[in-house]
Amino acid sequence: MNDFVQLVIEEFKDIYFIKGAREGKYPYSHSLLIEDHLIDTGISSRLIRKLKRSFPINIILLSHWHEDHTSGNRLFPNTKFFIHSKDKFFIENVNKFNEFYDISNTPAEEESEWLMESLKLENTNIDKTIEDSEIIEIGEKYKLKIIHTPGHTAGHCVFLELISKLAFLADIDLTNFVFYAGIDSDLIDFEESIDKLYKLDIRTAVTGHRGIIKGRKKIKEELNKYKSIIYKRDERILSYLSEGNPKSILDFKRKNLIYKYYSEFKEYETIAELIMIQKHLDKFIENKLIEQKGNGYVLT
Ligand SMILES: [Zn+2]
Ligand SMILES: [Zn+2]
Repeated sequence: MNDFVQLVIEEFKDIYFIKGAREGKYPYSHSLLIEDHLIDTGISSRLIRKLKRSFPINIILLSHWHEDHTSGNRLFPNTKFFIHSKDKFFIENVNKFNEFYDISNTPAEEESEWLMESLKLENTNIDKTIEDSEIIEIGEKYKLKIIHTPGHTAGHCVFLELISKLAFLADIDLTNFVFYAGIDSDLIDFEESIDKLYKLDIRTAVTGHRGIIKGRKKIKEELNKYKSIIYKRDERILSYLSEGNPKSILDFKRKNLIYKYYSEFKEYETIAELIMIQKHLDKFIENKLIEQKGNGYVLT
C-alpha cells in the first residue's frame, strides 16, 4: 500500500484516509476515499496521479470551493463532480477568486495570483449539486449523509458515513486557526455549524488539515476547543474597543488580533484579518455589544 493511503477504521476495508502533501498544510489538504468516491482533491498533483494508478475514482465530492481542496480537479477530466449548490458558481469561475476573497485592487492581488497560477487552477464543471440531509449510497455498504455546514464558505459541507459513523469535517478542521475571510463567509453561521456537528454521533473524524481524530468524546472536546478560538478573538477585539473613543476598522490593521504572526503571505493576511474582524464587529452590533459612532465603533 502507498504510504499516503491508510485505512481509517480496521473493520471498514474500503475507507481510506489520503494524506495530503506537507502533512495537509495549506495550500494542500487531506482527502477521504470511500470505494470509488473521493472527497476533495487538494492532496497535490503528484499524489493525485499516484492515487489514480491504484484506485478507480468515479465520483468526486467537493467539501467547498477553496483552492486548497480543489486544485487536483483538473486531473479528473472524465469524473463526475458534486458540490453544494451555494459553492457551484465559485468553482465554475476560478478567474474571479480575487473577488471571492475580497482582495481585488489590493496589494494582496499579486501574491494570490502567483499562488493560483502555481496550483494551475481550472474551472470545474459540476455534474450535480448536493443539499443538506441528502444521502448518497456508495456501493452496497455505505451511506454518505451530506451535512450543510455554512460559515467557512456558504456551501461548505461535512460528510457523515452512517454505517461507520466516520465524518469528513473538511475545513471545520480542528486546528488552531479558524478562517472566515471569504465574501461568502459568515461568522454566525460558522458557530451554528460547529454546534450542528456537536449534536451528531461521530465516532471518527477526518479533517482537511489535521487528519484523523478518534473517539466521540475527544471529537466533542476538539469542537469546543475550536469554538473557543472564535470566543478568544471576540474578547481580544472587544478589549481593543472603548466606550468613549471610536475605533474604525483601519485602526485594527496589523494588530495581530487574529494572526499571531504574519507569514510569507503577509499582504494577504493583513487584509484577511480585517475582513474577519469586520465579521466579529457585525456580530457584536447584532448582539448590541457595540454601536457605530462616526466612522468607528464604541462599546455600548
Ligand atoms: Zn477552505
Ligand atoms: Zn482548507
